Amino acid sequence: MSSHDNHQSLVHDILQQFDIDSDDVSKVTQRFLRQLQEGLDHPRPWQLPSYVYHVPDGSEKGTFLAVDLGGTNCRICLVDLLGNSTYNVTQTKQTVPEHLRINPRYQPLFSFIAKALREFLDRHKLRPENDCSAGARRIPLGFTFSFTCEQTSISKGTLIQWDKGWDIPEALGKDPCAMLQESIDEMELPVQVSALANDSVGTLLSRAYTSQEQGSTLAGVIIGTGTNAAYIEKVCNVQRLPRPERKRTHDSIVLNTEWGCFDDDLEVLPITSFDRALDASSINPRQQQLEKRVSGMYLGELMRLVILHCHEQGVFNMILGEESPCNRPYGLDSSFLSLLAKDKAAESLGVASAIERVLSAQGSTLRDARVLAQLADGIVRRSARLAGSALGAIIIQSGRLSDTQSEKGTVQVTSLQTHRHRSQRPKHFGRGCGLLSRIVGWLKRSIPSSTGPRNVEDKPLSRGSEQDIIDIGVDGSLIQLYPGFEAHMRSALRDIQEIGPDGERKVRMGLAKDGSGVGAALMANAAKLS
Ligand code: ADP
Ligand code: MG
Repeated sequence: MSSHDNHQSLVHDILQQFDIDSDDVSKVTQRFLRQLQEGLDHPRPWQLPSYVYHVPDGSEKGTFLAVDLGGTNCRICLVDLLGNSTYNVTQTKQTVPEHLRINPRYQPLFSFIAKALREFLDRHKLRPENDCSAGARRIPLGFTFSFTCEQTSISKGTLIQWDKGWDIPEALGKDPCAMLQESIDEMELPVQVSALANDSVGTLLSRAYTSQEQGSTLAGVIIGTGTNAAYIEKVCNVQRLPRPERKRTHDSIVLNTEWGCFDDDLEVLPITSFDRALDASSINPRQQQLEKRVSGMYLGELMRLVILHCHEQGVFNMILGEESPCNRPYGLDSSFLSLLAKDKAAESLGVASAIERVLSAQGSTLRDARVLAQLADGIVRRSARLAGSALGAIIIQSGRLSDTQSEKGTVQVTSLQTHRHRSQRPKHFGRGCGLLSRIVGWLKRSIPSSTGPRNVEDKPLSRGSEQDIIDIGVDGSLIQLYPGFEAHMRSALRDIQEIGPDGERKVRMGLAKDGSGVGAALMANAAKLS
């Protein structure tokens, strides 16, 4: 075999390792379904109740502040909910410096946020001078905090663990809202932290607020620095909820799945030598295994490890300089993978110079660019298909796919709710697990499909129409900016037997623009109601 053939077979072998076929997808989905179920029945650090019982219908109004602490950025937002499914948002964004993300103490991080908040209030003239008296009006603030918290109410929670490379040991076991309020009070800002929101919960809420079809939103999915999802579950299915909560009159509750930790035992997730190396040198080995295969923080690192391996084996013509980011752990950002994907589509000659610039490489060729693009595609394809497998588990769990499933106490918009007028839609969507659900099910079955509509408004919407839509709000730079990420997720949904091409067609994914900020405002609004 020539060295060229050797190199080709090495690349082929790596791509094979990253490939997951339809059987793998189904296994992952089944495993995740079990994990979803386990977290419904028992307290686990996943399937965390958000204590959000009111899903927005677009009529919410009010002015709120929001702090969105993602894995990379901190955004401060002023959100004006206009009550007609629209909003105005003003925001600033800052990257959180590394010495605050990894610090023995929590105070430096929270005073960084409070300072950013003070600047924001001053810039927008939201801080009345010399009026910090106890009676002064405080602006309610929703805090989107994208790390695992066990909540006890909509405004209180305890930080269980850091991930995405963060490590502030003193904050563990403490309430993020209380820590933020402490710094806010020290600066005497007229702000009350009134809700704690996970970013996936916020994404779901903001999508539901802006959605044109009431009750169609099922989940919020994040694929940014980290990955996570929240979805709407029936209260009666959530055995882990404290008894008084289950006795409340609400039908549905938003759960934060924390799916980044799914299959940490590696029963079904694919494992390559690159995954092993990444995990072993991470600050949280054996944890967040799905996240380490899916999210933006890790895909650049996987790519870096793959490039180094191929480079050592002489696959590339290019030479990596000593100062190349490939020689530094986490030196490569996942935006590099997007750049390759774009250029692959354009078959652009400019890609060679872009590669040389990003990798500090010399002498790269078009063939190098093609190989890099193939490798990036393999890594992202696996990421998106795994995310699709996980989303598939949520869709199956929701019972929204078929009428038969809907009779088993699952959350579904019934075909009786076909009126398009917003005011006629129920405020809480989904149905009870008990008598009401059985009556609705009976009514549904008793309407012969051949019966013509009495008027246009009564007409049951056909399959694949608005009525069947399973709406998913998505947020995060990777899913937004990597070309074709959604298409790969969809290919996984089609591979899942229970979903298939028919089910996949019902799924609509859409960007929850400003999801975390608007979601946090909606949480702060929900806090007023609870
Ligand atoms: P956060 O997670 O802080 O809310 P983002 O949603 O913006 O922030 O996600 C940041 C992550 O997205 C980083 O890991 C970064 O590497 C990745 N990212 C940023 N731009 C791109 C891009 N063009 N293509 C793919 N990934 C990207
Ligand atoms: Mg985010």
